[in-house]
Amino acid sequence: MSTTLTGAPVSPGRAAGPAVTMPDRVPEPRTTRLAGDDVEDAVVQLTRAAASVRDELTDRAGRAAGTAADLLAVTAAMAADPALTSDAERRIRSDRLTPERAIWDAARTMARQLEKIGPPLSERARDVRDVRDRIVAELIGVRPPGVPSPDHPFVLVADDLAPADTASLDPAVVLGIVTSGGGPTSHTAILARALGIPAVVAVRGAADITDGETVLLDGGAGIVVRDPDPETVAAAQQHESTRRAFDGTGRTADGTRVELLANVADPAGAQAAIEAAAEGVGLFRTEFSFLGRANEPAVSEQVAAYRRVLAAFPGRKVVVRTLDAGADKPLPFVTSDSEPNPALGVRGLRTATLRPGVLDRQLQAIARAAEAENADVWVMAPMVATAGETAEFVASCARHGLRTAGVMIEVPAAALRAEEVFAHAAFGSIGTNDLIQYTMAADRMLGELATLSTPWQPAVLELVRATCRGAAVHDRPVGVCGEAAADATLAPVLVGLGVRSLSMTPRALADVAAVLARVDLDECQELARLALSEDDPIAARSAVRDAIRPVLTDLGL
Ligand code: PEP
Ligand code: MG
Repeated sequence: MSTTLTGAPVSPGRAAGPAVTMPDRVPEPRTTRLAGDDVEDAVVQLTRAAASVRDELTDRAGRAAGTAADLLAVTAAMAADPALTSDAERRIRSDRLTPERAIWDAARTMARQLEKIGPPLSERARDVRDVRDRIVAELIGVRPPGVPSPDHPFVLVADDLAPADTASLDPAVVLGIVTSGGGPTSHTAILARALGIPAVVAVRGAADITDGETVLLDGGAGIVVRDPDPETVAAAQQHESTRRAFDGTGRTADGTRVELLANVADPAGAQAAIEAAAEGVGLFRTEFSFLGRANEPAVSEQVAAYRRVLAAFPGRKVVVRTLDAGADKPLPFVTSDSEPNPALGVRGLRTATLRPGVLDRQLQAIARAAEAENADVWVMAPMVATAGETAEFVASCARHGLRTAGVMIEVPAAALRAEEVFAHAAFGSIGTNDLIQYTMAADRMLGELATLSTPWQPAVLELVRATCRGAAVHDRPVGVCGEAAADATLAPVLVGLGVRSLSMTPRALADVAAVLARVDLDECQELARLALSEDDPIAARSAVRDAIRPVLTDLGL
């Protein structure tokens, strides 16, 4: 019999298929000593386990494509590296360690040595640890780490996913994502949306889902159905295959222009944006090229990474965000791992105060990439709190010839002092994910706080209004690039509050465009008043949905 679980809807779309659960983390083996007679056996076990890991990875690399194939080939080569296994062998023989403990210790020594050498070799420390975990898993008989790779499409079920796990997901194989943890604005959610994989997070009862059972999820409604009936599965698949298209120009019914842009993190995302007819890029998250890196990428490498995205948008606007490191996106070369409260710590633009060189080199790279390509490049800084920070950032951009410099409005202080901020900034982009987190004092990563973490909170909408009013004094445009922009019901409210561009995952463009095309600017303003007149977010959303019910029903939203 079917059971329905509810969670936070984070990436729209419906999907159904067999569940595959994420394996637990491989545990650190205990240090136990072998009896003298067992030593040679242990060496044989180690050699076999290493060979089996190498063969498995080589085989997978042969079947994968692009970056995934390269990553797997590197890890396979590491498993075949005799330096690692011979050190482990020596430890088995001299210290009578179990093979799993011996490879653990050998890997630790090797990873530390690599880290000491610095880039690019230090990047391989992660591969060493990955191989270590795989060999240990093989030796102790548990599932290897990372996203499983069965040879059929599946719905991935996890407690939560690390950004690196999510980034490596293949949308052709991973039909959907269900997690018991994670907040609606966590990076797992954002990457799932960027990859176009339907996802529901903070699902109560997800931990009970077992491997192989059929699950259906609706990433727009926030629902997961265990053991759905075949007709529902067929209907969901049919719905997905008949998605509407966006014609490439966002506007309300009376013709008020609302630019509809895409959020992009890499060239694949840029391609998805083009395919979805995005008018340009409203948020290029540059830090995603650098996640998992131990050291700052060279300027030339950055130029190459940015050019790959800019090249897809000749003559179109691309808003490049400078490095947003810290909190949920730690980067060892700019952030500290010892802050007691990283979300309130040195993150975003603040890292530039401690390491001005990193921002300076990034601006240099953006300027060089902009010069080499034909995109209309705008630059903005994340986590700006004051008018003073804005002035400094704009001046830094100007020193590099970057004339259109703006800020993200993510901190309530900046929204409240919008008039002063926009005296310097050429434009503003509201990062609702963080603005919600700081307005509601609710960690964006926490599933338990999902009811607080919504852009429908009247306090958040007030700050959107304050931002637009402050910007209007200087005739500066304001957009929204947080996840709120992808909510088709909220879009007219944001426009009614004064927002004139919305940047979102490419998959959401068509639905948002379709709703906007059916409401006048006057109606948008009325919907904004309606939402703000309610005391709680659920009531605000229902009131707006009721007011445009015929449009939503007609569009199947
Ligand atoms: C935001 O905070 O809304 C935003 C767009 O930035 P990020 O999600 O990358 O922190
Ligand atoms: Mg943010």
